[in-house]
Amino acid sequence: KGADGKFTVTLIEGDGIGPEIAQSVKDIFEAAKAPIKWESVDVTPILKDGKTAIPDEAIKSVQKNFVALKGPLATPVGKGHVSLNLTLRRTFNLPPYDNVDTVLIRENTEGEYSGIEHVVVDGVVQSIKLITKEASERVLRFAFQYAQSIQKKKVRVVHKATIMKMSDGLFLNTARDISKDFPDVEFDAELLDNSCLKIVTDPTPYNDKVLVMPNLYGDILSDMCAGLIGGLGLTPSGNIGDECSIFEAVHGSAPDIAGKGLANPTALLLSSIMMLQHMGLHDHANRIQKAIFDTLAEGKALTGDLGGKAKTHEYAEAIIKRL
Ligand code: NAD
Repeated sequence: KGADGKFTVTLIEGDGIGPEIAQSVKDIFEAAKAPIKWESVDVTPILKDGKTAIPDEAIKSVQKNFVALKGPLATPVGKGHVSLNLTLRRTFNLPPYDNVDTVLIRENTEGEYSGIEHVVVDGVVQSIKLITKEASERVLRFAFQYAQSIQKKKVRVVHKATIMKMSDGLFLNTARDISKDFPDVEFDAELLDNSCLKIVTDPTPYNDKVLVMPNLYGDILSDMCAGLIGGLGLTPSGNIGDECSIFEAVHGSAPDIAGKGLANPTALLLSSIMMLQHMGLHDHANRIQKAIFDTLAEGKALTGDLGGKAKTHEYAEAIIKRL
């Protein structure tokens, strides 16, 4: 916190629709007088010792501020490109349904996303799924603590230990051990395929639970859950580290609609609300969140993905009017 009473937060605007939705967050935060000063950094990758890396200034900024808000980053498809999202995470360790309130927590540094792949012989590639007790313990402990902090009754591990007996087995057994430290939180486990079927059939039984799972399952299941509540334009997320945390929307850079003022900034906005809550700024978080929810509920200034005609900035202005 600076002498002016403001907290400095690193802002990575990102690619595609990133700058447009980031502008909405900046405008709404200013109108809400949220005590945040943005420090914009560029994460265009550089090559360091032959590997893709994030510029030092960007890393230093996050390390100094502890908190960052991040827009989507486009990942070039093909060989030789390491996902910048992965690099960042590694560096810092709609309405068919009403009443959906799912919390999904995924391990975010390993699993199938270990990035360890190689050609065995021509035409045969091998990809390593890495699960460690240390990373599993960290995410599982966080899941139990988070369940307690938001008064959810149960933690449920989603896994495939029936098939991946050793890797998912380690994750599941670690969960059983950690659950003993949290006797007031119920604990159970469910197979991934079963969870998918049950959530899309009726998500309400998942409202009192926190779901926790290895990396790849979380990546897929979180997009599926986004579909339950109105699509990718609405779903927020945060990458919680021991020291630094980076908050971002679940969606990508949406190149098909970039630069046209069509993007829905809600996902990044709700990510910025998670950020304010993480920083203990609950009054500002609640005020902005209420303005967003009321604007959505009124339904007059909705973006195209929600069936409306409003431009990104018109939707943001409607929120600002309610603050
Ligand atoms: P995407 O999430 O960018 O887009 C999928 C679809 O959802 C598109 O039709 C898009 O128009 C729509 N959409 C997404 N966000 C929206 C919003 N806020 N408002 C309205 N509509 C929205 O996924 P993609 O097209 O597969 O990926 C594009 C790029 O983004 C790729 O380079 C990918 O690697 C990257 N990506 C980044 C992240 C991240 O930074 N965390 C996540 C996913 C994808």
